[in-house]
Amino acid sequence: MLKNRRCSLNSFFEEYTLDAVLFTDLRNIRYLCGFSGSEGALLVSRDSAWFLCDSRYTAQAAEEVTGAEILECAPIRIDTIVALAHEHQLERIGFEAAHTTVSAFRKLSEKLPGVELVELGANLDEIRICKDSVEIDRLADVATLSSLALASILSEIKPGVREIDIALALELEMRRRGADGKAFDFIVASGVRGAMPHGRASDKIIQSGELVTIDFGALKDGYHSDETVTVACGEPESRAREIHSIVRTAHDLAICAVRPGIGCKELDEVARSYIREKGYGDYFGHGLGHGIGLEVHEMPTLSPRSVTELEEGMVVTIEPGIYLPGFGGVRIEDTVVVTGDGCRVLTSADKQLLVL
Ligand code: ZN
Ligand code: ZN
Repeated sequence: MLKNRRCSLNSFFEEYTLDAVLFTDLRNIRYLCGFSGSEGALLVSRDSAWFLCDSRYTAQAAEEVTGAEILECAPIRIDTIVALAHEHQLERIGFEAAHTTVSAFRKLSEKLPGVELVELGANLDEIRICKDSVEIDRLADVATLSSLALASILSEIKPGVREIDIALALELEMRRRGADGKAFDFIVASGVRGAMPHGRASDKIIQSGELVTIDFGALKDGYHSDETVTVACGEPESRAREIHSIVRTAHDLAICAVRPGIGCKELDEVARSYIREKGYGDYFGHGLGHGIGLEVHEMPTLSPRSVTELEEGMVVTIEPGIYLPGFGGVRIEDTVVVTGDGCRVLTSADKQLLVL
């Protein structure tokens, strides 16, 4: 499996005529060799790979790393990279420009005077854009875990409770169910705070009749989940019901349109045009969704500016919303995997307007 993942590097070797690529981003390292620790580097040449770590990680690397020789480097990692470059005549080495600091680049340039360092842009992260079956299983697993966690704390969402208490109960429930942690700081935004798409849980007390948007996700085995529900605590106003219904239809239309070959821009427009037709086009200010995997937000991006087309194996969120300043907001989000002829929804919380 990891060997197949490394095949996705071939196009970079060809396009940039590289002898090797140096990875320091831990998500890419985990993807390519399995190491899940918090410090290391991976040098991949056309026919070999070396995982470099210090003595704190050699035992973990021996358990986790596949398809790369483990080299314990001390005291300066760059010296090991320099030695490998000389030994294997690596004359053009690509590096992750989006994940390399200026000082690290300078040090590398100084130590490798005869080597050309080739800047590889954010498109290098595209090696992870289509998920394989192992990754899809992990994403499905963490999505199910977090949807079930929400279901089991729904009864705690009621007037008189603080937003932060809901966030804490949800996080605790995820941990009880085996999550390694939360995927991000949960958004719990009630009443007028719902107009803030990224309203992190505050100490505001939820009032009767308010909508509450809960955007949540878990982290397990390196993979993230991401899902949003908007519920009502007591009977909401008719306008709240109206915008919930519009967002839900936009969300459903977009999910029905997911298939290989559709442009991410075109998919965004499916939801956006419906919201626009209903008169709320000015109140849906963000993109329709994003890729998710070893990062919460990764490629592809679903927005009016996207140029990518969906392919089988991509895992993306579908999350339209309407945000009315001074009133509140609604967002509904699911995570889906693109299949051969459509998609499979991985998240499973009820998306009807629940009145709690
Ligand atoms: Zn979300
Ligand atoms: Zn999201």
